[in-house]
Amino acid sequence: MAKKKTQDQVEEKKEIAKLEDSPDEEMLIEKPKEGLAVELGEVKELEEEVVEEVKKKGAFEKETWKPKTSLGIRVKNGEVSYIDYILDKRIKILEPEIVNALLPNLTTDLLMVGQSKGKFGGGQKRVFKQTQKKTQEGNKPKFATFAVVGNEDGYIGVGYGKSKETVPAREKAIRQAKLNIIKVRRGCGNWRCGCGDSHTVPFKVSGKTGSVEITLMPAPKGTGLKVEKECQKILKLAGIKDVWSRTEGQTRSKLNLLYACFEALKKLVQFKINQKNVETLSIVEGSIKITT
Ligand SMILES: [Zn+2]
Repeated sequence: MAKKKTQDQVEEKKEIAKLEDSPDEEMLIEKPKEGLAVELGEVKELEEEVVEEVKKKGAFEKETWKPKTSLGIRVKNGEVSYIDYILDKRIKILEPEIVNALLPNLTTDLLMVGQSKGKFGGGQKRVFKQTQKKTQEGNKPKFATFAVVGNEDGYIGVGYGKSKETVPAREKAIRQAKLNIIKVRRGCGNWRCGCGDSHTVPFKVSGKTGSVEITLMPAPKGTGLKVEKECQKILKLAGIKDVWSRTEGQTRSKLNLLYACFEALKKLVQFKINQKNVETLSIVEGSIKITT
């Protein structure tokens, strides 16, 4: 009996050894230079396709849309025709189509939150963040991406989506971004400028997520967006053209940096402004100019 048991154990050990010998996904990726280049190229092409599709998707058919929520029904029959009504009353948007219907000129962009794998040219910035879970069946990959939607005129939303495939991850992120849409307050808050246009933030504002804190400061016309590259995309889609910035904390954790940037923009409308400052700062909320 005891002898048989040891035999079993030996066989088991052999099997484990076999399993360990079989090539695993990670080993396949670390192939010699040639093979690696091909593989990375393929992934890149696939990604470009997915990213390209985002830009094409602009058309929204209001006629064929079947609203599911009461707010959606009111938007479709024209009872609610301004997004400001929803945002000012802080009604929760549960259907991304509402945002499509009320803000027809939305632009969507995916931000670089991931990096490619591999040696040599590895570590390049990518739209999809790839993670793997180790299971008995092997490595299970998962994709995540960060989407921004905005009309370049005072409205902006960001969203994060995760899935086992790239396409659903993108769809989730875009959907979430639309549901998170906010109004941004813009103006001309720099004492050196005073042009009367609303091209920058009206006052200094900061946002914090995790250890990362970002401060956006009003800049004179023509400065451009002096801020991290992915944050630039958020600010551009929000309609801000000039800004100075300062960051603190682990800004390498890109997601926290992006969320902090969004937090800062959120804060802009939370401040109460003195009536006499409304005109000197030429404040615009969303795309509507505030008058006294
Ligand atoms: Zn100005």
